[in-house]
Amino acid sequence: MDSLIVVINKIQDILASAKITTFELPQIVVVGEQSSGKSSVLESIVKMDFLPRGNNIVTRRPLILQLHNIFDKKEERRKKSKEKKNEIRLEAERPWGEFLHQKGKKYYNFEKIRQEIKDETERIAKGKEISSKPIRLSIYSKDTVNLTLVDLPGLTNNPIGNQKKDLPERIYKMVTQFASNPRALILCVIPSNIDIANSRAYKLAKTIDPDSERTLAILTKVDLMDEGTNVRDIINGKVLPLRYGYVPVVNRSQKQVDNNVTVKKAIKLEKKYFQNHPSYQDISDRCGTKYLSKTLSKLFIKRIEIFLPEVRRKVTTNKIKWEEQLKTFGQSKIDGNKNTLLMTLIFDFSKKFSALIDGVDLYEDEHL
Ligand code: GDP
Ligand code: MG
Repeated sequence: MDSLIVVINKIQDILASAKITTFELPQIVVVGEQSSGKSSVLESIVKMDFLPRGNNIVTRRPLILQLHNIFDKKEERRKKSKEKKNEIRLEAERPWGEFLHQKGKKYYNFEKIRQEIKDETERIAKGKEISSKPIRLSIYSKDTVNLTLVDLPGLTNNPIGNQKKDLPERIYKMVTQFASNPRALILCVIPSNIDIANSRAYKLAKTIDPDSERTLAILTKVDLMDEGTNVRDIINGKVLPLRYGYVPVVNRSQKQVDNNVTVKKAIKLEKKYFQNHPSYQDISDRCGTKYLSKTLSKLFIKRIEIFLPEVRRKVTTNKIKWEEQLKTFGQSKIDGNKNTLLMTLIFDFSKKFSALIDGVDLYEDEHL
């Protein structure tokens, strides 16, 4: 079972049953320098492969990626005919994507999604230009969570080719704007083969979120470090401490991408890498994509707890269907104040799922 899916879906169930449709869940925003591995990290989190990747400035417009769990439509399905139900079931077998700028057009071929991201980038941001106008892509799948991820252009110092001189500053502003959203969890992507003290991503995250309440750092490209060096001191907080720490990962190299190694296969290889590496063997359970997802889930719950007072306010202005929700928890009687009850339920969830996340393998092998 994937706890991140459970947590997010349950929370959304509660909110939906309380008719709170305006409560926005945390978003995951990636911040990092060009080619640091931002798109690769996002792909491994969603375990899907469709983002344009490469060694140049590939991501030139923000990509707002909304993941939807198709079984959310179960309410709808209940009302429909048998044929329609089958149709929806069949549809759920294959994930698909749909762009906001091409509403109604379903992409089942993820290679074509990648191409359309590139084409749509080019339509607005020609040549090597950048634009803050986001591309919005929805992915529907039975295996995903309802979650919003934002892929952003990489921070840079120097414009290249015909790029305008103010490009670095514009990218900085754009990234700052997205990361400043209090709902954003900042994934600060730092390649392990550079000096972390000089990381612009770290500096930006620290500026926006000085107490690191919503920042998680990812050390990419651990496999590309010089022989004899490792990231242990960084992970142990001896270099630049961060509240939620650093997670080292090994994503696909360009060669592996070119050879069609899938994300799922790469996650398996990554696990072996850390388990077999003399520097990481003893801490391999704190390394890799699986641990990253686990940590992210915890952070996600923590952020939701912060917004609970806001939920409370919204509840008081809504009519709530308590009984229905309570039934799903094996309780049928309501006593006490409705607000308190909602809070209790959500807190109960938080506790239950925090415990779950501590003890459960989020990415069990059958998912890979
Ligand atoms: P972005 O520009 O920050 O989005 O970076 P990308 O995800 O596009 O990655 C840039 C390049 O680095 C691509 O060719 C990736 O295949 C490669 N890359 C990313 N992460 C790793 C890693 O952990 N190890 C290795 N060897 N290559 C990686
Ligand atoms: Mg990218």
